[in-house]
Amino acid sequence: MPRLRQQNLLAAQWTPNGGALGTSDLNMAENQIFSSNVFSITVQRQRLPRDVFGKLQQTLARGEALDTSLADAVAQAMKDWALEKGATHYTHWFQPLTGSTAEKHDSFYAPTGEGTALAEFSGKELIQGEPDASSFPTGGIRATFEARGYTAWDPTSPAFILENPNGALLCIPTAFASWTGEALDHKIPLLRSMDALSKSAVRALRVFGDATAQRVFTTVGPEQEYFLIDEQYYFERPDLLTTGRTLFGAKPPKGHELDDHYFGSIPERILACMLETERELSKLGVPVKTRHNEVAPAQYEIAPVFENSNVGSDHQHLTMQVMQNVARRYGLVCLLHEKPFAGVNGSGKHNNWSMGTDTGKNLLEPGDTPHENLEFLFFCAAVIHAVNNHQGLLRASIASPGQDHRLGANEAPPAIISIFLGAELEKVLGAIERGEAGESTPGSFLGLGTPVLPPLPMHGGDRNRTSPFAFTGNKFEFRALGSSMSLSLPNTVLNTIVAEAIDYLADELEEAVKGGAPLEEAVKSVIQRSYAANKRIIFGGDNYAEEWHKEAQARGLLNLRATPDALPYLIDDRAVAVFSDYGVLSKRELESRYGVFAEQYVTKLNIEAETAASIARTMLVPAAANHLATLLAAQLPELATETSEKIAEFTAAIKALEDANLAENQPHDDLLEHARYMRDEVIPAMAAVRAVADKLEKVVADDLWPLPKYSEILFIK
Ligand code: ADP
Ligand code: MG
Repeated sequence: MPRLRQQNLLAAQWTPNGGALGTSDLNMAENQIFSSNVFSITVQRQRLPRDVFGKLQQTLARGEALDTSLADAVAQAMKDWALEKGATHYTHWFQPLTGSTAEKHDSFYAPTGEGTALAEFSGKELIQGEPDASSFPTGGIRATFEARGYTAWDPTSPAFILENPNGALLCIPTAFASWTGEALDHKIPLLRSMDALSKSAVRALRVFGDATAQRVFTTVGPEQEYFLIDEQYYFERPDLLTTGRTLFGAKPPKGHELDDHYFGSIPERILACMLETERELSKLGVPVKTRHNEVAPAQYEIAPVFENSNVGSDHQHLTMQVMQNVARRYGLVCLLHEKPFAGVNGSGKHNNWSMGTDTGKNLLEPGDTPHENLEFLFFCAAVIHAVNNHQGLLRASIASPGQDHRLGANEAPPAIISIFLGAELEKVLGAIERGEAGESTPGSFLGLGTPVLPPLPMHGGDRNRTSPFAFTGNKFEFRALGSSMSLSLPNTVLNTIVAEAIDYLADELEEAVKGGAPLEEAVKSVIQRSYAANKRIIFGGDNYAEEWHKEAQARGLLNLRATPDALPYLIDDRAVAVFSDYGVLSKRELESRYGVFAEQYVTKLNIEAETAASIARTMLVPAAANHLATLLAAQLPELATETSEKIAEFTAAIKALEDANLAENQPHDDLLEHARYMRDEVIPAMAAVRAVADKLEKVVADDLWPLPKYSEILFIK
């Protein structure tokens, strides 16, 4: 059946308020209820026995292991609350190494034997679950014959209720481990890394004379980019449906060149969808703050207020899930892939990261006094040290096939990791390094009694959009994450390597102070040495420029372009050492992740290649053949020859792709070798097929071309 333009009219139709699902009127104030579906501290205070509440909060504040005797009381209160909210089932909600979330629902009701049922949910069920989760990837930690893994309640991330039009579900954030205690998920290492950083940072704070902070939390505020397109086009494109991205599609005559979409007014249907998404997220306690159009047509961004890394990461998963669910209510589909449309800006996630004490101090915030700035500069120096020493690991933590289309494509940061400090901070650190932080320090930095470490006037406006890792006033922004990724791994890496760096610098500092140096002198000399040793990672210029790539090479910085280039850094000696020293990931746990990621890379590309070949053969070749027949019937020999030549070229490219993607033609002995084969043989073969297809799209009769075109998908809203 030919595609007709009138289908586009259908796609442009939408219903306010999500139509069929009859959601609440968002114009009513009472429908904006923050945290109403969260088993929050307020709810806990109201519902838990006083002593239980007190003990629970104390345990959480200290980051200690939970006294299991509390569990029954908490479970009872949680169940009553959930039942009142209409929940019939509960689930242990966890994050296997697939990168998404997993859930297995259990009913609260258990039969009594007398033909009735009783709502049951005890501490045991709260604390521990045993999903038959033998099919999750483990990278070899767990052979399937010893497949049991268990989920364990994470009391530091609040339970919540997910609503469905036909029922509600109590979700309990949990960790997922093997019976031998090895982490099978992304949450456990993240929690371990937060502990590690806390220990190192508190230790350093003591040297600075801070006797009150008991715990330091890492914080994260992610900015998420995504596309919203009409679901009709989505379902008409087997490539989007199967792989999350379009494997074909000629560049539309109009892209983002006019810059008329970026920060433009948001189309009404899209805004309606955003408002409902935010309302749903708000009920779940996700503190959504900003929304705007992004660079590409049909591309948008959502960002919350920051939270501690663990809760922030859980909330990020929820955000991605809710965005996808709510979009469907508006006849839209939310695309989270890093590169859904070739030649059009892709989507990333900016990971704003900082460290804050339980007494409310942000360690990366320049202060009002020289003493506060001593601390601030010390922690900045630690971050610089960490990033310089673990560039490869950081790069590996954000590697995926989707990312390979983006990093280094002059729309996202390059694959080279470097740090942008901003002119002011760079000047101050430079002056300290040269030992001239006295009279010659720029005038604006003088004041407050000491010429050496003056107040630092930081301007949030001092930005560099091309930098992968930028200081932005009171936090670092790791800007190279992919839009579909979990935050857990990159934050686990950041926390762990910064913990190590803080300890390294704190060792030197303690030594110097013991040797009798005044604190200020000691800090200055530690920073001086550290900055000199690590400043090659600092770069304030244009990261897209060709000269930077040469310069970075001269500085000895890594340029890991594709996933197979980056993955080995996940398991090199340096990575193994830092993760085991800080008890975050054992060598086996690390190797299992490496194995899972390499396998995912290969599998995803196999699927893409097969999908591309199949669409080409079963949809595009027939369309081109029909077109050729029309031309021949109309006696247009010149056009017919042109088309038939393209079809011949196309057929040859398809055969080459099918050949490259044949299992027996691929190396199976070594995962990395296999991944490299996909990179070097399969990806180019796919690109060759696409190149001809996109030319054909421009000559084949519009009503014969079976795939909706970019100009339709991106511009009909
Ligand atoms: P931008 O100019 O980069 O678009 P904003 O100033 O709006 O950014 O903030 C971006 C993100 O930074 C927000 O998601 C916010 O929550 C986060 N953020 C702010 N302070 C911190 C912090 N201390 N730790 C982690 N994230 C933070
Ligand atoms: Mg930002």
